[in-house]
Amino acid sequence: MQTPHGVVHTPAFMPVGTQGAVKSVTHHELEELGAQIILGNTYHLYLRPGDSLIARAGGLHKFIGWSRAILTDSGGYQIFSLAERRRILDEGAEFRSHLDGSLHLLTPERAVDIQAQLGSDIAMVLDECIATPATEEAARIAMERSVRWASRARARLLRIRQDPSSVPDVVATNAGQAQFGIIQGATIPHLRSESVQRTIDVGFDAYAIGGLSVGEPPEVTYDLVGHTAPQLPEEAPRYLMGSGMPDDLFECVARGIDLFDCVLPTRNARNGQLITRVGTLSIKNARYAEDPLPPDPDCGCYTCRHFSRAYLRHLYIAGEMTAATLNTVHNLYFYLDTMRAIREAIMLGTFDKLRSEFHQTFSRRPQH
Ligand SMILES: [Zn+2]
Repeated sequence: MQTPHGVVHTPAFMPVGTQGAVKSVTHHELEELGAQIILGNTYHLYLRPGDSLIARAGGLHKFIGWSRAILTDSGGYQIFSLAERRRILDEGAEFRSHLDGSLHLLTPERAVDIQAQLGSDIAMVLDECIATPATEEAARIAMERSVRWASRARARLLRIRQDPSSVPDVVATNAGQAQFGIIQGATIPHLRSESVQRTIDVGFDAYAIGGLSVGEPPEVTYDLVGHTAPQLPEEAPRYLMGSGMPDDLFECVARGIDLFDCVLPTRNARNGQLITRVGTLSIKNARYAEDPLPPDPDCGCYTCRHFSRAYLRHLYIAGEMTAATLNTVHNLYFYLDTMRAIREAIMLGTFDKLRSEFHQTFSRRPQH
């Protein structure tokens, strides 16, 4: 995948850098880990420090000092998570800031403008995510609204690209920014197909599958990905939003997905959960108090090459900030290295073998 900030080899995993930083690690560490692209959250950056301030600083890449690719979400997902603090209108999503309670209206056009000012390499359209399980009626209303919003978002971006003087309030800081449409339709296959058709009719640079991994069983996610991904254009990357248990990576790559993001490796790291090829190891457990082994003896990350489970447990129990850093380095290495192995296996034609080997050892159940 070509971006204005370099080529991203796919399939790829994108670490989540919510507020312009991947929590507890530096950009230098991310580069060493081989992160090709990170994700920024529009909702957070819009509220603080604000997209205009970031535009004045030259755009998000320059402001945060990251020279590789960045994808920004539309802000919608965070707003839909606000529950009582938001209201969905045809015009857009009205919400109260979690910081100061101020009232905001995020329209599809505004989501485009904010991301244009941030200057990410990939901007996402505003869509409506609904909780699952949803009735068919609720799923249809949200899917149709998402299509209408997609069409408004596309028109806005084309206007910014073609006639920037007509939108003087918007300073686009990345002329090569791509825009992805999002497929909705909850867990109802024919709504997913309709969403694909109508979103492709609007016409985007590439497409994402939204509204999955929101609590439904993994088999349901896989079936819907297997139903939806093959209907999306083969020449453009396909992005599965927010999905990312390690086994999801294998199963969804097998069904045609090229891009993933998930807070799991970084969030779990801060909670002392180390993700390995056999499953999750909870470092706070007393059984590791004198364990001289690294978290994963087969892992090549900085943490596993230098430190014991006993030391990492001590850092975690003592509340040392380094615990979060070292655990995050390991978890992100595991994800990024797994994606490297998947890419290599695809090139060699051995992906099915790698996939079955992975399933033989990996378990979602906590190991200890
Ligand atoms: Zn490691």
